[in-house]
Amino acid sequence: MNTPLLKFPNPMLLQRALPCDPKDGQQVHIDVFKLMWDVMLHHKGLGLAAPQIGIPKRMIVGRHQKWNLWAINPEVEPAGKDMVWSEEGCLSVPGRRVRVRRYKRVHFTYWDQNGKWHDVTLGSIPSLIVQHETDHLDGITLANFKPYGERLCVKPNPLTTSSSEAASA
Ligand SMILES: [Zn+2]
Repeated sequence: MNTPLLKFPNPMLLQRALPCDPKDGQQVHIDVFKLMWDVMLHHKGLGLAAPQIGIPKRMIVGRHQKWNLWAINPEVEPAGKDMVWSEEGCLSVPGRRVRVRRYKRVHFTYWDQNGKWHDVTLGSIPSLIVQHETDHLDGITLANFKPYGERLCVKPNPLTTSSSEAASA
């Protein structure tokens, strides 16, 4: 594995990634996705964002059971008000587990590697993965959160609570 996995506080992880034009360089996107996928599997992650391998583009990958994701310019919106506590690790913040407040379900839109537009609703682990990975695209990592504290950039909803688990991504 020659591709480096950047670790916090590498400046690349702290900046907002740039949008991709999904119609430009389809093969370029596919090559980046393959690289990201290999790095994710090599490090046994559930997801990866392009900035984690030094590519400042809005691209993420994720996997959970039979769900596999390659996403360009992903956008996440809450689907309902329910929040969950998610126990997360991050490949770029090794050795740290953080309880993060996340939306239980999200509307998720993205372009795939073939230039096709997707608009889906996600729950369970995939919902948590895309929230974690799109945070990376905005320069936010688990290192920005207090240990075992609340997520700092989303207002928690005190009315609903449940818990779920996610591995490093
Ligand atoms: Zn991460």
